[in-house]
Amino acid sequence: MLDYVIRNARLPGASGTTDIGFSKGKIAAVEPKLVADAPSYDAQGCLCCGGLCETHIHLDKSRIADRAPPEPSREKPDQMRRVQAVKPTFTVEDIYTRAKASLEDCLKNGTTRIRTHAEIDMPVGTKCIEALTMLQKEYAWAVDLEICAFAQEGLSDAPEADKALVKALETGAKAIGGAPNYDTDHAAQIRRVFELARHYDIDIDMHVDSGHDPASLDLHLVAELTQKHNYGGRVAMGHVTKVGGLPVDKQKEIAKKLAGAGVAVTALPATDLFVLGRHVDYNVPRCVADLNMFAEQGCNCSISSNNILNPFTPLGDGSLIRMANLHANTLQVARPERMADLFAMISERSARLMNLKDYGIKVGSQAEVTVIDAQTPAQAVAACAPILAVFKRGRQTVRRHRAELLRPQ
Ligand SMILES: [Zn+2]
Repeated sequence: MLDYVIRNARLPGASGTTDIGFSKGKIAAVEPKLVADAPSYDAQGCLCCGGLCETHIHLDKSRIADRAPPEPSREKPDQMRRVQAVKPTFTVEDIYTRAKASLEDCLKNGTTRIRTHAEIDMPVGTKCIEALTMLQKEYAWAVDLEICAFAQEGLSDAPEADKALVKALETGAKAIGGAPNYDTDHAAQIRRVFELARHYDIDIDMHVDSGHDPASLDLHLVAELTQKHNYGGRVAMGHVTKVGGLPVDKQKEIAKKLAGAGVAVTALPATDLFVLGRHVDYNVPRCVADLNMFAEQGCNCSISSNNILNPFTPLGDGSLIRMANLHANTLQVARPERMADLFAMISERSARLMNLKDYGIKVGSQAEVTVIDAQTPAQAVAACAPILAVFKRGRQTVRRHRAELLRPQ
């Protein structure tokens, strides 16, 4: 017995349209012209996917651009210190209020699944976890919000951060992250993250190899530990921009190695473009991981927002389609099949990265659909197509009207 039907939905890669029937919060039927006496939504042949998936965002430190000290100079933008300057003012209420505004932006832009990275460094400790756990419950009607706890400012030489990280994992974080770049001992942090992940049996999603110089790469140790501990399919790395400094055949070798180990790569184009390339003042390199190249070597990939309105990225609106468009523009992607794969990197590939078993438009999945004003995934990416409607747990959660031209009479 269907309780809701989405009619005339166009699924990625399918010819023609289909109906999607919901029953008790799950997808119960996917076939053309479903016969059902249930309320319905007419997608009018627009593209429908199982919700957009944000694998890497920092809701907790979003919206602090206006409080942080200004950039000292273009060459030394000092983002970390400028965020640190603001962190003593973080209270649970303040984190909650800012994160909520950014979360609502994501929802309005069609996102239904989010992995939010949460900092546990002193003096904030587990305040971010507390605020995000409140939002997780309050917005369960619209989003599955997963918390990924990590030390942003160093772990191997910060026993207090290690203690807070363990507490976060005990109290609600379902994934563990890391930022070895900012640790005095990169390898020690990576090893500790794997140790904790295995102890709590959770997935890993770390910031790895952000920068322009490929002279030393932490990704090799991540791949090695992933294989050693049989963690393939449960490890993701954000940024990985240093690889772009290598000749293409070497990049492909690395991508193959990561694919073999089961390590996924996430590009964060808004942050990477904003933060990197400051070492030169002209002929600035683009410093964004080439995800089509990684994917073509067998690596799973996702595209995400990372930071919104803070010193690391003073821009942003929570739109994943815009991120995919930015990625395509930056990496000079023109072929429709590659653009379609970028769309998968904000939807089904991202869901796979997060190991979401109940995702996608198929019988048995969660009753969750995002309707986009486009005909194909490639067109959605190319045109930054707007969202028209979102459904989550069987009910409509977002409605947006198409803009209209008001011609003179
Ligand atoms: Zn990040």
